[in-house]
Amino acid sequence: MIQKGNFLLLDKSEFREWLKKQNVARPIEYLQVHHTYLPNYTTRRNQDPFKCLEGMRNSHLSQGWAATGQNISVLEDGRIAISLDRNLNRIPAGIKGFNSKCICVEIVADFNVGGDKITELQKESVVHLYACLAEKFNIPINTTHIVYHAWVSVTGERLSDYIPGRSSKTCPGTAFWGDGNTIAAANKNFIPQIKAEYQRLTNPVVKDEDQPMTKEEKLAFDELQATVKSLSKQLESLVNSKDVLKKGSQEQGSYIKKVDERVAKLESLNSLPAPPSYAQTAIDHFEKSYDKDGNQVLNTPDGRSKVFYDIATIMYRYLNK
Ligand SMILES: [Zn+2]
Repeated sequence: MIQKGNFLLLDKSEFREWLKKQNVARPIEYLQVHHTYLPNYTTRRNQDPFKCLEGMRNSHLSQGWAATGQNISVLEDGRIAISLDRNLNRIPAGIKGFNSKCICVEIVADFNVGGDKITELQKESVVHLYACLAEKFNIPINTTHIVYHAWVSVTGERLSDYIPGRSSKTCPGTAFWGDGNTIAAANKNFIPQIKAEYQRLTNPVVKDEDQPMTKEEKLAFDELQATVKSLSKQLESLVNSKDVLKKGSQEQGSYIKKVDERVAKLESLNSLPAPPSYAQTAIDHFEKSYDKDGNQVLNTPDGRSKVFYDIATIMYRYLNK
């Protein structure tokens, strides 16, 4: 950013921030588009930019104007010059009868057919400049609000298009932007490119994969990785425990089954519903025997076991030996 004489010279990259800081009290609805015709790329060769800018100012003053006509100029190298004597709060002298709600931008070149072929640097700067102005003043990006000088008559009447004979000038040039100075030409590339730049400025698309991790993000990511690793180990050990438990309960199950079988066998020994055949004679005998008080000798309210039958058999055989 260089300030000298009546101008402030900015790099393209400085303009948006500079513009954001400007307090503009007057209403802005239109952005004018001009080429300077003179100076142009030929006169600009090896010329100091401030000499060029002051030259334009002097030319305007010599016509009786109060100050430099335009608010902003764009040089062929892409640098942007602010007219300090025609700051944004001052109505420009750009298009006779059509200035009050305008900002006047002069692109330093001759864009008539056979004139200058716009440089990439100037092209990029111009697109960026109009996008920034549209953002700052909330101006719709279309041919109603971004106006070529050629779409206004000598009396300041807004025309429907560039109309040779009625338009006050060919400005910004019959080969402007490589497409010409008509409404259709503006809608072909110029307006869409400003829209795209506006979109880029106001809604920057950040692709995650393009962004390297910040220090904090890397730290958080490492922590997450460690947590996942630890959880995975815990899960593995839980699965192992489950297998161990399953095996243990299967073994217990089969042990209980065996014990059950042994208990059943023991129970069967303790209680026989009918006497074994070898004990039948003894049992028949004792069932018919009574003591001196008339009680049956066999009194077995808890059932009869194999041992009982064996003892009854032994007793019977002993009594009958
Ligand atoms: Zn013009």
